[in-house]
Amino acid sequence: MATKKICVFPGDGIGPEVVREALAVLGTVEKISGTCRFETEKDLLGGASYDVHGVPMTDRALALARASDAILLGAVGGPKWDVLPFEVRPERGLLTLRRELGLFANLRPAVVFTPLVDASPLRRELVEGIDLMVVRELTGGIYFGEPRGVKTIDGVETGTNTEVYTRPEIERVARMAFDLARKRTGKITSVDKSNVLESSVLWRKVVSEVGAKEYPDVALSHMLVDNCAMQLIRNPRQFDVMVTTNLFGDILTDEASMITGSIGMLPSASLGGKAGLFEPIHGSAPDITGRGVANPLATILSVAMMLKYGFDMPAEAAWIEGAVERVLAEGYRTGDIHREGEGKRVGTTEMGDRVRDAVQKLSQKR
Ligand code: NAD
Repeated sequence: MATKKICVFPGDGIGPEVVREALAVLGTVEKISGTCRFETEKDLLGGASYDVHGVPMTDRALALARASDAILLGAVGGPKWDVLPFEVRPERGLLTLRRELGLFANLRPAVVFTPLVDASPLRRELVEGIDLMVVRELTGGIYFGEPRGVKTIDGVETGTNTEVYTRPEIERVARMAFDLARKRTGKITSVDKSNVLESSVLWRKVVSEVGAKEYPDVALSHMLVDNCAMQLIRNPRQFDVMVTTNLFGDILTDEASMITGSIGMLPSASLGGKAGLFEPIHGSAPDITGRGVANPLATILSVAMMLKYGFDMPAEAAWIEGAVERVLAEGYRTGDIHREGEGKRVGTTEMGDRVRDAVQKLSQKR
């Protein structure tokens, strides 16, 4: 039987609470599938690591991640560590991990589960059936470009960040997105700001060239990011795969998350290196930490992405996705997706238990 090594970083805040449920679901899949053994090893990341080791990620934690087939992460950060210098903030641990592992593409699906259509702030007819995938470039652009920093220049305090993209950086993320588009509806939208930014002029040129040379069967369109922010609310169904830069992707994916109703529902995969990193898009939610109310579904769905994109186990991934849909259809809701007078409000653990039961039932139908 194949063995997959999974490095687990529960992280901070609600991270450990939601990761516990996701690992339990993975355990159920392992038992039922019988084709693969999942060997998990935990380590500290973020504030939890800083508290023990004085750094947000130790060399040992990075080595563990490097030696694994996949990484599952909860979330990092929290007000307790906001006073620290940037170099040792919890978020720095995550940025370093992404960079060191070469995870240049961040896949963020936004899927509206039918039972949750009314949890979206948008009208039912706009969001019904939404299933889009944003591919965000993750290791370049303004988050990493030099020069950067805050300096006093000619007596004036000046903050600087620099947007830099090279042709190879754009080509590799474009290929990842075109490959996905080919497997989905054959449609892709590239988002940039080429009317103002030179880095976006290059982005548009390179994406167009990759499309024309290597993916003539995929329909490519371009959109300016300000228009895209508007179109995502006006008519989200026009999109399937979207590919964009680090900064624009960061913002557009949070916007897309609200179409689905709650940030507690959205998983992500960061790919490009030997091992992928799978994590919910939400943060450590300090306002609800320790209360047992966090929605574990985003992390559980991140495990489904791990199976699909990390381990090429699409059938097992589909059990989890189907189980989530079923539990929602049965009316179970954590607080973030619950509406007064509808369904049954449950906590983190019960939601996890329900998904495990549903995975078992669905897998029996094989
Ligand atoms: P957040 O995503 O933690 O929380 C935003 C809101 O959504 C809060 O009201 C929270 O209660 C709610 N929420 C988030 N996840 C939820 C879930 N699973 N179930 C129910 N409700 C949920 O964003 P924030 O408050 O801006 O950030 C808190 C901390 O998390 C900060 O330190 C930030 O830097 C960090 N952060 C980390 C990551 C990451 O680890 N990838 C991402 C974003 C923010």
